[in-house]
Amino acid sequence: MKKPITIAGGGLAGLSLGIALQSRGASVTLHEASTYPRHRVCGEFISGVSDETLETLGIGDCLDEATHLLSASWNDPAGRLVEIQAPGRGISRWKLDALLQQQFLSLGGSLVTNSRVAPASGVIWAAGRPRQPSSWLGLKCHARNLPLTHDLEMFTSPGGYIGLARIEDDQVNICGLFQKKPPSGSKGSALLVSMLRESSLGALADRLEAADIEESSFCGVAAFQTGHQAGPEFCIGDAASMIPPFTGNGMTMAFESAECALQPAMDYATGRKSWMEAASASTASQASRFRRRLAVAGALHRILLNPLGLRVTSALARRKCLPFQTLLHLVR
Ligand SMILES: Cc1cc2nc3c(=O)[nH]c(=O)nc-3n(C[C@H](O)[C@H](O)[C@H](O)COP(=O)(O)OP(=O)(O)OC[C@H]3O[C@@H](n4cnc5c(N)ncnc54)[C@H](O)[C@@H]3O)c2cc1C
Repeated sequence: MKKPITIAGGGLAGLSLGIALQSRGASVTLHEASTYPRHRVCGEFISGVSDETLETLGIGDCLDEATHLLSASWNDPAGRLVEIQAPGRGISRWKLDALLQQQFLSLGGSLVTNSRVAPASGVIWAAGRPRQPSSWLGLKCHARNLPLTHDLEMFTSPGGYIGLARIEDDQVNICGLFQKKPPSGSKGSALLVSMLRESSLGALADRLEAADIEESSFCGVAAFQTGHQAGPEFCIGDAASMIPPFTGNGMTMAFESAECALQPAMDYATGRKSWMEAASASTASQASRFRRRLAVAGALHRILLNPLGLRVTSALARRKCLPFQTLLHLVR
């Protein structure tokens, strides 16, 4: 190979692209601002990724330990709205990112942890959602002894939404996105419980309080926006575009964006394309693959977060008048 590849960000997009490039003979150095394993704010529900994508990237084995999920329910403060089938995989980011990192290292990739780099020409930017002013607060933690009615339970309320998903080792991941300001003074799972009570989801808050919460898994994130991101020229994953979390498709998009970037990055490594040509080929491929789902998910997100929109969609769901499978298909 004529040119080595540098990637900034060792989340799902950066690691899966690093693995795919390294296994094709490229020489990859990946910089990760933090270290492994580590918890990340994420619903940990992977949905919509094809076996073909996993095979192309060479990361299928890393998902073998995921729990297979099928049944799902959508609930609001008044109770169950609907039961559906939403096939997916549940696996913690603690486990998944560490498995991908081990695979990257086993292929001879060079990984520099605790290394926060700046955007530069020649660096593939996989550094996740950029910081932007917003009213969002994302919170997550793991719990045991939290019985679920379905593999995935989703709750919406005028203040935000929250998902409970089965993950490995009989654990449940609890992850919510809230628009309300956090009450001062609470931290850890107590903060999550008070956000649920503020969002009129008191019954769910009671269930959390009765469960065994792993406090060390608690993490939070703020200051981000969904949709297209204005990042450096060669971006993948959330750094390029972030689909609203309720779709459960962000991790899939991280993998698929790595797939979109793979051939352009190989063309750059072998000298067939300049850096800018490779960057624009990757951007064009992601734009055509993700355009529809980003547009539909953005519109649905606005409806779900609008109190009137939420009342109307909840009423339609209760009357079984919402075409769930079609909507699921459109955001994948
Ligand atoms: C509340 C919430 C719930 C979600 N739920 C789901 C869900 O259920 N299902 C789903 O599929 N998706 C979900 N997502 C989305 C999903 O988490 C992301 O789409 C996915 O993590 C994107 O992967 P990534 O590799 O692009 O970014 P990340 O996973 O964020 O990885 C980026 C990495 O870059 C590192 N980094 C940052 N800056 C630098 C730098 N300057 N130099 C070096 N390294 C750097 C970070 O430490 C991090 O490890 C959710 C997101 C949120 C906020």
